Amino acid sequence: MKKKIVIIGSGPAGLICALCCCQNGIEPSDILIIERDSEIGGTLNQCIHSGFGKSYLDEVITGTELASILSDGIRQLGIECVTNSTVLSVDKSKRIRLVSPTYGYCTIKAEAIVLAMGCREKTKGALQIGGTRPAGVFSAGAVQRIVNIKGYMPGKKTVVLGSGDLAMIVARRLTIEGGRVICVCEPKEYVEGSDEKYKECLQDFGIPLYCSHTVTKIFGKERIEAVEIAHVDKRGKAIKGTAKKIKCDSFVYQCGLVPENEIIKETGIRLDTRTRGAYVNQYFETNVKGVFTCGNAVRIHDLVDYIVEEALIVASSICKYFNKEMEKPKNVIRIKNGDRVLYSVPQHLDVYDESLEGSVIYFRVNGRYDNLLITLKCDGKEIYTREKGKMSYLETGKILITQDLAKELEKAKEIVICASEKKNGNDIDNYGKNNE
Ligand SMILES: Cc1cc2nc3c(=O)[nH]c(=O)nc-3n(C[C@H](O)[C@H](O)[C@H](O)COP(=O)(O)OP(=O)(O)OC[C@H]3O[C@@H](n4cnc5c(N)ncnc54)[C@H](O)[C@@H]3O)c2cc1C
Repeated sequence: MKKKIVIIGSGPAGLICALCCCQNGIEPSDILIIERDSEIGGTLNQCIHSGFGKSYLDEVITGTELASILSDGIRQLGIECVTNSTVLSVDKSKRIRLVSPTYGYCTIKAEAIVLAMGCREKTKGALQIGGTRPAGVFSAGAVQRIVNIKGYMPGKKTVVLGSGDLAMIVARRLTIEGGRVICVCEPKEYVEGSDEKYKECLQDFGIPLYCSHTVTKIFGKERIEAVEIAHVDKRGKAIKGTAKKIKCDSFVYQCGLVPENEIIKETGIRLDTRTRGAYVNQYFETNVKGVFTCGNAVRIHDLVDYIVEEALIVASSICKYFNKEMEKPKNVIRIKNGDRVLYSVPQHLDVYDESLEGSVIYFRVNGRYDNLLITLKCDGKEIYTREKGKMSYLETGKILITQDLAKELEKAKEIVICASEKKNGNDIDNYGKNNE
């Protein structure tokens, strides 16, 4: 079977990319979306809370509402979307192997591919908690799915580990559904998620938060009966003599998300060890021509708004690819992560006939800072500085390449993004270690 464009994954990244390809003149019949779940919409289907759609629709709606608006759009255009279908692998020559109730086991040869497989939760093994592994131990995402989609309560008395937005949203949901969240433990000294979510989800519902605490043991044979929590030091090590046993019938943990890219192992696509997504240029094209990627498969996003931006970029890049505007770059500029910068996407800028003006560099810093200054150095020369003020590693920073910046950059070999901390308003402190 042959197809012009195959999109793997039907979360907001995949669906918005498909809709925008059609707005850019691609025939709906040239697109195939493959989704392993029974419904399209991806993570949005389990997010019944508000906070989605700002940049795409200019109104704030729930995740499920956004999923339904996008699905309607796909249906109205008649874009083929095969569900319950899992892509097993993709190879260098853009052959996709999948198992599907519609096509059975088959191979599709695509002219262009969009990798939009989202991310998965890290497993509880990563936490190395002692004790047994009885029933009643869940990841936060699994609980969100069980409660919001399946309609079951995973337990009545729960201890939650982790205070990221997802863990706090889940603690609130369990409380609204009639359960009791005994406490949320956070190994760090501060709340991991946003202040807004801490207020809305924990404070407003009277759920206690214990910072500098972790879960050190799980008790129970068939079903979980209790957990042991303990105070931790700055390095996250449990402090002797502080352990406390708490009775509960469920334990929910959140220990991070990781881009889902296992199916591209055979493609030779280069992965960034920091983002765990593919190395991309400003068009979100990988090092394999015609293979693009967007959404949580590229990096873990804080907001769908950035996923929308990426999906729009990929949709327009696909048109450029078919118009042969992206054959061989005249110059490739490497983007390096300097002081306090955790990662940046894209990882390089490819200079074709089109100017770099309008391209965007997204980045994250490696901690929480009150007064940050962001600088861009081009072949050693500082060409950009912006006061960013307060910024945390949970947020995405953005540098828009203006006409003037583009002129400076186009012949460069390398640019470095750095963040320095401004102390007392004026003194720029450069004590940070380089992350390279
Ligand atoms: C609990 C939670 C709360 C959030 N709250 C907010 C919020 O308030 N505001 C906001 O803006 N954002 C929020 N987000 C973020 C946002 O929902 C996600 O970042 C976004 O849905 C990711 O979109 P995506 O398309 O990249 O991936 P996903 O939505 O995860 O979609 C990826 C799809 O690919 C499919 N897939 C994967 N592998 C394969 C394969 N091999 N074959 C076929 N299909 C495959 C998956 O089944 C999935 O449907 C939240 C996220 C979570 C988890």
